[in-house]
Amino acid sequence: MKRKYFGTNGIRGVVGKLITPDFVSRISSAIASYMLDKGTMVIGSDSRLSSPSLKEIVISSFLAQGIEVIDLGIVPTPLVQFAVSYLQADMGLVVTASHNPPEFNGLKVIDSDGIEIDIVKQKGIEETFEAETYQDGKTETNKNITKMNLIPEYINQIVGLVDVDLIQKKKLTAVVDGGNAVGSLVTPYVLRNLGIRVVSVNCQLDGKFPGRGVEPDPRKLRVMGYAANQVKADFSVGHDGDADRAIFGDEKGKIYFGDKSIALFESWILQNSDNKQFVTPVSSSLAVVDIAENLGGSVTWTPVGCIYVSRKMIANNCILGGEENGGLFYAPHQSVRDGMMAAALMGNILAESQSTLSDLISELPQYYQAKEKIKCSNNLKELVMEDIKTNVQADEIISIDGVKLIFSDSWILIRPSGTEPIFRIFVEAKSKEKVEILLQDSLKLVAEAIQKYQQ
Ligand code: MG
Repeated sequence: MKRKYFGTNGIRGVVGKLITPDFVSRISSAIASYMLDKGTMVIGSDSRLSSPSLKEIVISSFLAQGIEVIDLGIVPTPLVQFAVSYLQADMGLVVTASHNPPEFNGLKVIDSDGIEIDIVKQKGIEETFEAETYQDGKTETNKNITKMNLIPEYINQIVGLVDVDLIQKKKLTAVVDGGNAVGSLVTPYVLRNLGIRVVSVNCQLDGKFPGRGVEPDPRKLRVMGYAANQVKADFSVGHDGDADRAIFGDEKGKIYFGDKSIALFESWILQNSDNKQFVTPVSSSLAVVDIAENLGGSVTWTPVGCIYVSRKMIANNCILGGEENGGLFYAPHQSVRDGMMAAALMGNILAESQSTLSDLISELPQYYQAKEKIKCSNNLKELVMEDIKTNVQADEIISIDGVKLIFSDSWILIRPSGTEPIFRIFVEAKSKEKVEILLQDSLKLVAEAIQKYQQ
């Protein structure tokens, strides 16, 4: 379903280009009008320089539509999601552009169950926006804005879901890299409440994100790794701009991509819970399948995007989901990505284990990955994918988002870009050599299929 403004996670754009006061006012009116007739919404924002003024515009639009507003201040996105459920509000909004550079901003729209709204509602909002079928000033009475600090309640819920006594006894040390963003306001305090000694890096809020940028790319988290090594930390954790993701590093200072940490969380849950389903997008590593098979569990695949993982977890009553970008979903807390919850769970895993984090990760199934892109005009994409599905032999073919061809110890994923005339090709195998061969084979396979339909 094509959308004009909503992307994989909310509406985002450059401030002064797409994100102007006029646009934010009108889209907020459309959101309020489409989502609610009356009721309460909770709102929070990230620490960008443009966030306070944009948040005031959103609030004004909601008040003018007769909606009560609860303002949570500058907070992580998962805290707003928690607040929607905790306060039994009718919806939530976060003014944030997550991991995008400082000149961006955007809106994440949260449904009454605390999860980002689905595509049908995104489309409904856009139609309301285009048709301008909203009316400001329909309220006869002034609605209220209530300011609320829910950080203590949020921290309490997270702390209540891990083994505090065990973690306290272990006397762990952690380095937290907040990326000059909102994770800095919560994660150090969550961990200190668990008796973990915290050394913080980039934990002063700065809307320009001068420390290491706001995307927690493991290659940019060198200072966090260095600090972990220097202070003899047991682990380190870095967040993105709205702290719904967590990237971890070990006691030696090595930083891991999210596929390693989610595999570790999966392994831990499958050993400790009767609920043995792990929910993850089709782009995730086969390591999660190996782990599930070894521990008597199963993997449920979803399209790429956190909304799909959350919705599938609720539909199938699953306890854990994960994304290779460092998104961890833990249902006893909430079925959405939550970087703070992930940090607390890592404390629990290390407190329980006699091994170091580097040892735990080295015991996980090892795979290598590579990716490439190839040009393909939009009108040929469906034909090419159909052709590949019909003509290629694989152990299993998953076609919920692009085409994923799974072989005994490798896979190829061919995904059409939603915004560009290209296919993205991902491959994974047990050795670096095999990955390179597989990547070249995949490019050839897709190029040949494209050629068939080009004339
Ligand atoms: Mg984020």
